[in-house]
Amino acid sequence: MARTRGTDACPGALQVHRAADGALARIRLPGGTLTAAQLAALARVASEYGSSTLELTARGNIQVRGITDEAAAADAIAGAGLLPSATHERVRNIVASPLSGRAGGNADVRPWVAGLDAAIRAEPRLAGLGGRFWFSVDDGHADVSGLCADVGVHAFPDGCALLLAGRDTGLRLGADEVVETLVVIATRFATTRGSAWRVKELDDLERLLPGVELGAAPFSAVTRPPVGWIAQDQPGSEGRVALGAAVPLGVLPARVAEYLAAIEAPLVITPWRSVLVCDLDEAVADVALRVLAPSGLVFDENSPWLTVSACTGSPGCAHSAADVRADAARALKPDAGMHRHFVGCERACGSPLAAEVLLATGDGYRQLR
Ligand code: SF4
Repeated sequence: MARTRGTDACPGALQVHRAADGALARIRLPGGTLTAAQLAALARVASEYGSSTLELTARGNIQVRGITDEAAAADAIAGAGLLPSATHERVRNIVASPLSGRAGGNADVRPWVAGLDAAIRAEPRLAGLGGRFWFSVDDGHADVSGLCADVGVHAFPDGCALLLAGRDTGLRLGADEVVETLVVIATRFATTRGSAWRVKELDDLERLLPGVELGAAPFSAVTRPPVGWIAQDQPGSEGRVALGAAVPLGVLPARVAEYLAAIEAPLVITPWRSVLVCDLDEAVADVALRVLAPSGLVFDENSPWLTVSACTGSPGCAHSAADVRADAARALKPDAGMHRHFVGCERACGSPLAAEVLLATGDGYRQLR
């Protein structure tokens, strides 16, 4: 079914969203990757022009809200190298297996992500793709394929499956075909989409891939980030360590972001609102863990924070019936079982596919899904 909204309201760093608490900028991070210097720059943007927090999104991007000087914030974001294209900034939505090339997986997908980002920016027709369309690149962990992005690839030991709306098309690609195929499919969508913003809204998929027959079941949805001490085992990074830190409700204080940046290691923001600090030697990882653990970041895989999330809610969002983040924090329980996502209205922003979605009614919560 086609969405009725005719304009693309997804925010970027230049086209900000007017939220109840001020201007909100969203910075796309293809594959979730950023350098320590870039995270430090975003922390400064949040401290100097925003609400002093960074929000991690369900697509592995970062938001700054409550911005008082939009031009200065955009300049600082561009100066950090996080705004490489003014025309395509909102369509660089690429989620990738966050540990790829470092731990496990069937392929190192990082070059594909970089190549895909460059190819998207080089195709003028993709400027009209829309900020909701996204790409997934799964290295075989089966972590991001279950997010049901619009188009993606999933690396198996003997080749790469092309996915549409999270389902296997049956088509297998060589490594050298991945980027071009994803861009071709996205361009076909951008030029034939009508009023649809997502592949799942199309009545037929023939326009994207003639003769396609989708597999019956999508990949299972993952809701938990990798946390704690993660031994890296892939060629070139053996013996190194990645630290996985979940960020409660995705709200990262700028001060804590500065601590993370001070480690001066490569960083990955995951679609489960967590940060990976990568390529550490064991001694540095040990010290970093001791410094970061008291800061509110979560390194314990049994933490109840891993089973709860929330949309923005009040006071940041005018649509909300409640301060859903505060309510989610109050409702933490040790053995929650299924993931619970608290939302302030029926739009249910950021809802994981495999979660109990709880809708604020103004008088408590009811189950939306
Ligand atoms: S779900 Fe509703 S209340 Fe929550 S952020 Fe989205 S629009 Fe706002």
